[in-house]
Formats: sequence, structure tokens, C-alpha cells
Amino acid sequence: GQSLAKKEERIDGQIKKRGHKVVAPFERLSNNRSTVTLSVPDQSPMERFSKHHLNVTQLCEQSWCEIKVVYGFLKPHMKRREMRRPAVMTGASIHLARELEANPDAVTVVVHTREDREALKLINLIQMVPALEAGQLVREFPVLGVLDGVFFLGVVDELYCSKSGDLVLSELKTRSHNSLPHPAQAKGHSLQVGVYKLLFDSMVQGSMKRDQLLHFLKLRPHQAFGSELQRYAQKLDLLAVTFGDLVDHLLVVLHFSNLQPIDKLCLEYRHQSSGVLIGNREVEFEETQLRAELRDYLAFWRGEREPHGVDIEDIEEAWKCRMCPYEESCEWRRNRLQEVMVDGSKKAK
Ligand code: SF4
Repeated sequence: GQSLAKKEERIDGQIKKRGHKVVAPFERLSNNRSTVTLSVPDQSPMERFSKHHLNVTQLCEQSWCEIKVVYGFLKPHMKRREMRRPAVMTGASIHLARELEANPDAVTVVVHTREDREALKLINLIQMVPALEAGQLVREFPVLGVLDGVFFLGVVDELYCSKSGDLVLSELKTRSHNSLPHPAQAKGHSLQVGVYKLLFDSMVQGSMKRDQLLHFLKLRPHQAFGSELQRYAQKLDLLAVTFGDLVDHLLVVLHFSNLQPIDKLCLEYRHQSSGVLIGNREVEFEETQLRAELRDYLAFWRGEREPHGVDIEDIEEAWKCRMCPYEESCEWRRNRLQEVMVDGSKKAK
């Protein structure tokens, strides 16, 4: 009894000295209780977050943690803050420097509408097809198309022909640590390049449809380009003046191109601060397995299943929460912690 009283006094002393209240882990979690709803019955995440299409990078974020994806929509200010982290900004500038290196004559074109913005991507694509056919390296190659009923957009970092004649897709990843990534981190990277290949291959095999593109992107085919974009298109000898014209032109270019499916998928890891190469990894393309994974990821977007968060009992995964901006308010994590503690106390009895 006496030793307990002494301990309490000591703790009291610490509280006064530090000037803050000592709280139990649960109390700390419940103090930050968030009122967000992670899933809504009768409304899929596609509907709830007004998504008509997905970016390939969204799938990679999803492979990291689906609850984090949901928080990204529900707490956009925190997501924006995360995207402005120095590590993310450095990664983006390394990508930009590489793009400018491959395309030193890049020009800035002011866009006025969504149609202008998407048209600019398609113009870039149309320009890169002959370069790629001629065996040149191209960077920031747009890929788009429907997979399992969902429209995807993505931008491939690099495409080139290897000495042995293989068409190689390479994705640059920058890392703050000077080491190759942990399998949990690399999982999203492999998914990303695999999905890029599915999209690229279906584009060069003629699967892209005009109506699908206009329908999923919710773009107006008769919308004329803004004046700057019109001048830019003329300079490139493109006769298109509306978004619909440009889509038609793209389909013709793809139809008559001699591009073949991608042969090899590579990941290039570079150290963020020094830019030094850490290593390259080749990714195995297992189409059946990839399509099955994709179906499962899309089941979340279609509202066919609940979102899954990090397995906090798995040592290979639990560390993700420690670097997550939503850690303090995460409902999923809080519920799992409670379950683990309840299980632990049952076992102790
Ligand atoms: Fe996912 Fe963990 Fe972040 Fe929650 S705290 S959103 S489970 S990474």
C-alpha cells in the first residue's frame, strides 16, 4: 500500500512539472474521436466521392491502406498537407527534371477548360507514338482505358527499346532511405507498373473506344479548344479543333501504329537527396493474378465490400500507421487496438 501511494505522488509531481495531463492510451484515442463515417450503406465510394474514373496512383494508395484513401477524401486539407511534404516535393521535382531532360523544347500552353486540359495530354500522347515507334525513349507517356468496367488514367514515367529489342516500361521511385523498399512498400509499385501495362497493351491492341472515353471522362466532344491550345495544335499540324476531333485523330494514330505490347516492367529506385541510383528491380507480370487483385481493389470502389485498413498485429504492416497523418483519429486503428486489448485481457484471464 505504501509503495503505491509513493508512486502516485511521483506521477503527480511529473504532471505538475510537465504541465500536461497523463492519459491512458484509450483515453488519448477517444479524445481525438473522429465523427467521420468510413463507409455509407447504399452508396459506393465511387458515388460518394463523385468519381467517374480512377487514377492508377489511386490504386497504389489503396494497396497501402484503404482507410487512408477514405480519409484522404474526408479530410482533404490533411491530404494536401501530406502532398506538400518535402519528400513528396523532392520526388516531384526529380520527375520534372527528367521529363525536361527528355523534352528540352517543352512549351507552356494555357488551358481554359477540362477539355483543353485532357486534350493537351492526348496531344502529348499523339506526339510520342512516332517517337516510340522510331525506338526513341519517351517520358511521361499517358495511358488510359477501361479495366473491369472502370475507366483509368495514368502516366508512365519511361518507355524505351532495350538493346535486345524489348519494349521496356520503367517507373522511377525516389526514396528518403538509401536502400531498396520493404515488400509492403514495393507491392504498390509492382501493381502500378502492371496496371500501366494492361492499359498500354489494350491501347495498342485497339481496345480504346471513342464513346467510352467521352462518357467516362464526362467531356464535351463539341467543345472547341481555347485560343492558345488551337494555336499549339496548328503548330503541330493537328487539324483537330474540338476534343471529339482529337479523340478521332488519336484512335487513327493508334490504329495505324506498329507499337507492340510491353515486354518488360522495371522499377528504378533513386536516393532522394543525392539522386544516386539505389537499384533496379524487374517486375514479373502475372496477368491472371493481377486481374484478380484488380477485381478485389475495385470491389471496394463499387461498394461491394468494406474498406480494409492496416493489420496492426502484423509487424510487416503496423509501421505504416506510425507515418500516417490520420493515425491519431483513425477509427479503424482505434477499433483494432481495442480488439487486441480485449483479446489480450481474455487470454490473461
Ligand atoms: Fe490506415 Fe493506419 Fe493510417 Fe488508419 S492510421 S488510415 S489504418 S495507415
